[in-house]
Amino acid sequence: MTITETQNLNSELADLSLDKCLLKIDEMYGKKAVFTTSFGLEDQAITHAIFTQNLSIRVVTLDTGRLFRETYELHRNTLLRYNKQIETYFPQASDLEPFLLKNGPDSFYSSIEQRKECCHIRKVIPLERALVGAKIWITGIRSEQSGNRSDMPKVELDSAKNIHKVHPILNWTWENTWDYIRSNNIPYNTLHDKGYPSIGCAPCTRAIEPGEDFRAGRWWWENEDTKECGLHWVDGKLTPKKAK
Ligand code: SF4
Repeated sequence: MTITETQNLNSELADLSLDKCLLKIDEMYGKKAVFTTSFGLEDQAITHAIFTQNLSIRVVTLDTGRLFRETYELHRNTLLRYNKQIETYFPQASDLEPFLLKNGPDSFYSSIEQRKECCHIRKVIPLERALVGAKIWITGIRSEQSGNRSDMPKVELDSAKNIHKVHPILNWTWENTWDYIRSNNIPYNTLHDKGYPSIGCAPCTRAIEPGEDFRAGRWWWENEDTKECGLHWVDGKLTPKKAK
């Protein structure tokens, strides 16, 4: 893949609505396109658009094994609502079991290195397996989630993975997202009603207070600069500060 291909794809998709953007990707790539969902509000909007248009884009989730009960309930409710398949990728026992034997279950609180290793085993490696053979990786990233990426394009080249990342709702606001969810009666994580705008693993996510940053509840014990899980590195830079 080349920068020119990325720019051309961006020109094709940049101004399309969510539905049309996904339809176009489906026409061009079919099952070579993968959407990763963590069942957050943005992800539920994209899942709805894929499933209701009967697209062949693969919908994939990474089950870290440490998710909230509410997230598993939403996973189940989403399957019941759409009657479609969501591929679930789990950490590999051969990676996780030695790590747990050496460090115990909650070592992510003890150091940044331990936390990143846990994210690597539970998220990054399963993601790599999920993206094997894929040409397009669709995400629910919104530019509003990062104060310094307002100029971010809808399509990026992740040259390390040799894949195009597409962010179909990049320009949506939090309010736009809620409007879409409510107007289409889309199931959503009930934790959003309890102060959790961004939802990841249960031990690493807390509710936020009014006025706090959108992502203040993720890895709240860490310095702001270290808060990433390795999923969204593009050519050595972090795509917005959103973790899955
Ligand atoms: S968010 Fe926490 S529990 Fe989940 S993979 Fe990362 S360190 Fe492990």
